[in-house]
Amino acid sequence: MAEINIIIIEDSPEAASLLESTLRGVGYKAWVVSEPKEGLKLLGSMSCAAVITELRSAKMNGVEVARAVHKISPETNVIVITFYSFINSAVEAMEAGAYAYIIKPLNISEIRLVTEHAVERFYLSSSNKEKEHYAQLAAVDGLTGLYNRRYFKELMQHEVAKLQRYASNLSLLMIDIDDFKIYNDTYGHPAGDDLLRKLSKLLRAAMREMDYVCRYGGEEFVVVLPQTDKKGAEIVAERLRAQAGLYLPTTLSIGVATYPEDGQQIDVLIEKADAAMYKAKKGGKNKYCLA
Ligand code: GH3
Ligand code: MG
Ligand code: MG
Repeated sequence: MAEINIIIIEDSPEAASLLESTLRGVGYKAWVVSEPKEGLKLLGSMSCAAVITELRSAKMNGVEVARAVHKISPETNVIVITFYSFINSAVEAMEAGAYAYIIKPLNISEIRLVTEHAVERFYLSSSNKEKEHYAQLAAVDGLTGLYNRRYFKELMQHEVAKLQRYASNLSLLMIDIDDFKIYNDTYGHPAGDDLLRKLSKLLRAAMREMDYVCRYGGEEFVVVLPQTDKKGAEIVAERLRAQAGLYLPTTLSIGVATYPEDGQQIDVLIEKADAAMYKAKKGGKNKYCLA
């Protein structure tokens, strides 16, 4: 397991040394500094479970330290040390985001208890962040960086639920590369992958911020256009078709389906967009068709 770092900001040598030896005793790596500024600099350079700080430092009070720590490293827990007579300031620091306080004169078992809880909390929130990170990975296609099919289904559920509450439109573009098999056979699979990435970039650049671009399958992409009726979707489809013709070595066939007129259920909409795309293939490719 990696080292557990704790920063101690304390200008009294006696208090600093007691804190340091107690934390080392528990197996933590303690970094002692006498000024908040130094502590914050150190915090920026490593992952740190907790910052223990004297409340009434000459340069910066506990509230300011808590805020600054939170800005640099939101998962790091701030523990303030205070005399009982300054308990109000400790409470203020807690309101500003500090995790806990320890009262002076310092007591070894209290230091231990509070710090161990802070460390546990740090690792819990880090592992939550990790989970979010992996959830994000599970939503993204490795080759193109676009949303994958699984995420597409999820976001459609979300979007269609919104549509049922607020009467609005949504359009789907189902996009398939024309004769991609020939392209792969002619230039090789890596060149084919390259083309998939180029098309992904083009799709993303061509869309609005609120649109979603997803890789639906091998060489099939689907674009979700919220608040877009059939007329609007038609303009987007034609623009895409034309841009692919300009910037890519292959052409695209595109099918357009629109909520609510072509269907109000996700699977029906997808089917309609797919059928329209096949109509475009049958009609000679390099074109879009409406459902
Ligand atoms: P059509 O115009 O009718 O769409 O013909 P097509 O050749 O594009 O369609 P087909 O479905 O016959 O072939 C799809 C090809 O896409 C075959 C497969 O090798 C290729 N492909 C699918 N996924 C990938 C990928 O990740 N990388 C590469 N390079 N090729 C892929
Ligand atoms: Mg295909
Ligand atoms: Mg194809």
